[in-house]
Amino acid sequence: MSYTVKDVLIPVDKGYDTVDVQIEGEGITAIAPQLEVIGTAIDGQNKLLLPGFVNAHTHSSEMWQRGLIPPVPLELWLAELYDFAPLDPEQVYLSALGTAVETLLSGGTSVVDHLVLIPGRELESIAAAVRAYKEVGIRAFIGPLIQDKSLTAGIPSGDSVQNHTPYFRSTAATLELMAEAVAQFHQPNQGVNILVAPTGVQLCSDALFEGCIQLSDRHNLCRHTHLLETKAQKQLAQEKYGCSAVEHLKRIGYLGDRTSLAHCVWLSDADIAILAETQSTVVHNPLSNLRLGSGIAPILKYRQAGVNVTFGCDGSASNDSQDLLEAIKIGSILHNITDFDYHDWITPRQAVEMATLGGAKGLNVAEQLGSLSVGKKADLVLYDLTSLSLLPRTDPIGLLVLGRPTQAVHSVWVNGKQIVADGKVTTIDTDELRQELFNRSQWDTNRQSTTIPQIEAHYRQVMGLAELTLGYS
Ligand SMILES: [Zn+2]
Repeated sequence: MSYTVKDVLIPVDKGYDTVDVQIEGEGITAIAPQLEVIGTAIDGQNKLLLPGFVNAHTHSSEMWQRGLIPPVPLELWLAELYDFAPLDPEQVYLSALGTAVETLLSGGTSVVDHLVLIPGRELESIAAAVRAYKEVGIRAFIGPLIQDKSLTAGIPSGDSVQNHTPYFRSTAATLELMAEAVAQFHQPNQGVNILVAPTGVQLCSDALFEGCIQLSDRHNLCRHTHLLETKAQKQLAQEKYGCSAVEHLKRIGYLGDRTSLAHCVWLSDADIAILAETQSTVVHNPLSNLRLGSGIAPILKYRQAGVNVTFGCDGSASNDSQDLLEAIKIGSILHNITDFDYHDWITPRQAVEMATLGGAKGLNVAEQLGSLSVGKKADLVLYDLTSLSLLPRTDPIGLLVLGRPTQAVHSVWVNGKQIVADGKVTTIDTDELRQELFNRSQWDTNRQSTTIPQIEAHYRQVMGLAELTLGYS
């Protein structure tokens, strides 16, 4: 299929131009005023065309627990999350569909799914997510979430001696699983990419990281991990390595220009210099960091040091949505309160560049994605500037980033294929998806985590919080 978007606004150095944009095959083939119409003509009048954003860090199956986990920090939140994680690949499929749809309708054309695997059904979990993303047609980067330590090992020991139950799967078996996932599902030409994605140093051995590095080198895969999301993780890295987690990751060779690192809240200036030197990418998840009290990532310092930064929603149980425009808005204006020099504050246009080209860089696809350029893949989003939430007419990108756009996405193309038209996803039946998500869930206001009470006293003690008298909830 070919398309010509007629008379559409695109951002240029100073302001906006009105142009026509031709899409042929998988790519953008021409951008200029008054082109001849090839294929289907799309009326671009009063619309803005931008490259698609990257939802650069999420966990799709968390959708089943959104709005539900009480306000507790990451280490306790994780305990509850895993007490109730999905047990069924069909749920994984449906929440991946939901994540894809919400990402598309908030301007995203790529999603990085750090995918929680169902124990014993790991490849089925990946297959379910792959099926969902292929059906919707969003570009998918799936990092099967792996670890080789039990959850309690993610909490610092402090002065005490902690015994953790061994993880149920060996490091070698996990690496075999990853090799199998790559063999079965890594198909960049079909829009599905596998990433290596150990969950983080807090729950993974060096052997697991090193096995992932080998796999990534062998197949040219991108690398992903959580990094220093919480103060507890910073403390734990010191206990484990006697240095920062960033120094350790550098030493074992995990950092590099195709490595993206989610959160990066608790980094020192020396750590930041390492990220710049290794050309690693930071994925900023501001809503999750606020929701879990993890802290405010020093994003403006990263930018000043030349570190590439992009945005993610993080999973829907710590956000609790997949609205990428919301993440971009909060992720840009949040730093106006931490950094006094307003010359460094993130402008709406800079935020768009971080979400598009920044995302593409972190996934090693900046040659192909992330800007409106002839020769690049057509991963494009057309915004309706007559949407009530974008009126009255001022600056389109300012309205999009600083406003609260609702129903603003008119059309989306991924790899040259139109998958949203007139504000509706055309590749799947979203009413059926709504019905399935409704049918397979219950109003659930009274559940109790069994694990939080077991670990909370120790957590409070090592984090220097007052001793517990009444217990959780
Ligand atoms: Zn995460």
